[in-house]
Amino acid sequence: MNLRLVCTDFDGTLLPAGEEDDRSICPEFFSRLQQLKKRSGVVWVINTGRPWESLRSELERQRLPYWPDWVVLGEREVYRIEGRLPAPHRAWNQRCSELHRELFAATTSFWEGMRRFLQHETRAVYGQAEWSPLEILAADAGEADRIHKKILDWIAPFPDLSVQRNFAGFRFSHREIHKGSALQAVQEEIGLDAAVTLAAGDHHNDLPMLDRRYAAFLTCPVNAIPEVKDRVRGQGGFLASRPASAGIAEALSRFEACEA
Ligand SMILES: [Mg+2]
Repeated sequence: MNLRLVCTDFDGTLLPAGEEDDRSICPEFFSRLQQLKKRSGVVWVINTGRPWESLRSELERQRLPYWPDWVVLGEREVYRIEGRLPAPHRAWNQRCSELHRELFAATTSFWEGMRRFLQHETRAVYGQAEWSPLEILAADAGEADRIHKKILDWIAPFPDLSVQRNFAGFRFSHREIHKGSALQAVQEEIGLDAAVTLAAGDHHNDLPMLDRRYAAFLTCPVNAIPEVKDRVRGQGGFLASRPASAGIAEALSRFEACEA
């Protein structure tokens, strides 16, 4: 097997989680990726929940030796990076918008109930946002767990509706639109498939892409949440012993050793 596509989540998977100012992606990750690029022209996708401006400013701050070839933003929209600017995958992004517009309009009782719950029973910050009628930031990890449980209970009658959680943040989407299906949209666009793809993630919103339907080689850094580690382990993936990008560098190195 020849690795041709490396799909990494960003926060917690490349960039260390936490609030320190000196958070950085380790040079070893880029040297491993560079070797793969030279050897087999590996394509690099950053698959994140961030919007473009937030990702762009962090990529600039990190002074990356090179930028990703593709990005997935908001766990849904797909863009090819050309000259450090995002060029939309128009057909996919349009399908995403249409699916979400219809779904969100058909689920008003869910949004009303959630808003009441958030207002009266939590200290969460919440509101309408670009990609979701409701984005929620819980006050702390315990409250995030409580909100997550409530969402999973209340979402059950709406089979097309799903939630993406990242740490204490929540965003809603169509069940067919997530990091996994967005990765598949990139694969179809460039003529590659799961057999030549590595996917790396650390949190709830990465679970849909940490699936052998989308990537034959699965990995996570040591700081990944237990659900992610279980998912990766359960499908024969590689659990790195180091955090964030150091862990993904370790995975790339191991993968190269297997290939050699
Ligand atoms: Mg993450």
